[in-house]
Amino acid sequence: MVKILRARKYGFCSGVRTAILKAKRFASENKEGTILGQIVHNEKVVEEMEQLGLSTVESLSDVKKPYVIFSAHGVPPSFYKRAKEKDLKVVDATCKFVLDIHKESAKALSEGKHLVFIGDPNHREVIGYTHDLKKEQFHIIENIEQAKKVQWEKYPSITIFYQTTLNSDEFEDVVLYIMNKNPNAKKTDTICYATKENQNAAKELAQNEEVEIIFVIGGKKSANTRHLFEICNSFKKSYLIQGKEDIKKEWLIGVKGIGLTAGASTPDTIVDDVENYLRKITSEQLHPDLLHK
Ligand code: SF4
Repeated sequence: MVKILRARKYGFCSGVRTAILKAKRFASENKEGTILGQIVHNEKVVEEMEQLGLSTVESLSDVKKPYVIFSAHGVPPSFYKRAKEKDLKVVDATCKFVLDIHKESAKALSEGKHLVFIGDPNHREVIGYTHDLKKEQFHIIENIEQAKKVQWEKYPSITIFYQTTLNSDEFEDVVLYIMNKNPNAKKTDTICYATKENQNAAKELAQNEEVEIIFVIGGKKSANTRHLFEICNSFKKSYLIQGKEDIKKEWLIGVKGIGLTAGASTPDTIVDDVENYLRKITSEQLHPDLLHK
């Protein structure tokens, strides 16, 4: 009998729950609206929104209906003004942890600090923090190589922010490098609690001796899911899947213990589906000759 163990903590965080709830409540009022950027980074949730009549667009100029819904990842502050200019009413589903970084970074900037955002420059959350800034006011750093190219000594003081869903361990070298180069560089603790909890639980799961392989369930664009995958995969063979349809039976041959975790934007129903499917196929005899039948 194959053992299937879920991480102690996985899946939906408060920010995602609130964003989905706000969008669903809006849809139930029969108002017309468009979501700017995936409401949360999960393709199945985006499909569900479509079915509720809320389409997703990538640019504010593509929003045509009277309401625009800002996603959990937030938007540049100027977008509130732009929406008003376009006569759009705003439903703001930005996560409060993202809003906190907007506030903190604006304060740091007003105090004359140079801003550093550790994260992905193409992620909506990071675009939200930096879009309205002047080039010389900030850096977005993804790795140590990039950090080494900047003359950190020349800034009087620096405040470092993390994208909320990063794994801070992976960027310790970057932050230490900047702080060593500039004694007035300070880091802020902006990785959100849900990300930390899911990451700690994923690490625990991956270190469980009974677990041989791990499925990390989440959307293709989900940064926090990718980080969970990196953590798990550094301990045990792991697979990043969007749902049960991505599972290949050959991955399970000879496996006696499976771990399951999921990103902060993955609905519980998808995790349940994956577990039920795994229980079903692992109860069958998994022999190489049967796999493609
Ligand atoms: S992962 Fe954290 S920052 Fe992102 S939506 Fe959830 S609670 Fe907010």
